[in-house]
Amino acid sequence: MPNSFEGRLPEPFELFAVRYAHHGGRKMSDNFIGGDIHESASPLDYFVWVARRSDKTFVIDTGFGPEAAKERGRDLLRLPAGALKLAGIDSTQVEHVILTHLHYDHAGSLDAFPRARFHIQDAESAYATGRCMCHSYLRHPYDVENVVSFVRHLYAGRVTFHDSVSELDPGLSLHRVGGHSAGLQVVRVWTQRGWVVVASDAAHLYANMQRGLPFPVVYNAAEMIEGFELIGRLGESPEHIVPGHDPLVMKFYPRLSPELEAIAVRLDVPPNVSRG
Ligand SMILES: [Zn+2]
Ligand SMILES: [Zn+2]
Repeated sequence: MPNSFEGRLPEPFELFAVRYAHHGGRKMSDNFIGGDIHESASPLDYFVWVARRSDKTFVIDTGFGPEAAKERGRDLLRLPAGALKLAGIDSTQVEHVILTHLHYDHAGSLDAFPRARFHIQDAESAYATGRCMCHSYLRHPYDVENVVSFVRHLYAGRVTFHDSVSELDPGLSLHRVGGHSAGLQVVRVWTQRGWVVVASDAAHLYANMQRGLPFPVVYNAAEMIEGFELIGRLGESPEHIVPGHDPLVMKFYPRLSPELEAIAVRLDVPPNVSRG
């Protein structure tokens, strides 16, 4: 994909994943549609992500809090804002938050970011507040309180809409993938190892992409499968794609600092896939 800055490279972003929750009680059939699905364990981790360089910090997604954890039986290891603080990011000072989509595990606790502008796709906002939410299967991954909070921030003038592809800053762009939700977007980030894609729920697990098998929470299966190819084109190699919920991310990438073992890892250095 061509860059908008040919010949004049911008400062690369530091990029990291911050883990705040876990769900151990899952089987393969909970995470894949089709294929040779057996009933072995297939846990998920929950992350927020940070792209940072000298002039700007972007937080990608805001996670969920204790109510959602209790309601849905997830292990909340720490509040997302608390996890960010451990990684050196003060959520009260963050100016840009990218919401990949509005599902409960990606768009809670917006109030923890009182100075932020929230970036979202037109299609996601319309989907989460429109006719598809008449159907319990489609609204189940949303938490109405998150959606209401999002609308309040919209009415406070703090939301920026994007349609399909947007360059937010040289070296950081948003790309609508759809599939999992109508307006799911991924984030393409320029780092010292090249273009890395924060795939969020465009690929929950490495195996969803590698095997071409959709995750069972799906708005449009064709777009989801096409999305695996799209994110493949946006990253420099398969090792430049970071899935949204795979516990292998914490194994493949080095921790941000010794104190952040199992909490935060660097995505701007190559993964050590032999550790899987
Ligand atoms: Zn989702
Ligand atoms: Zn998710």
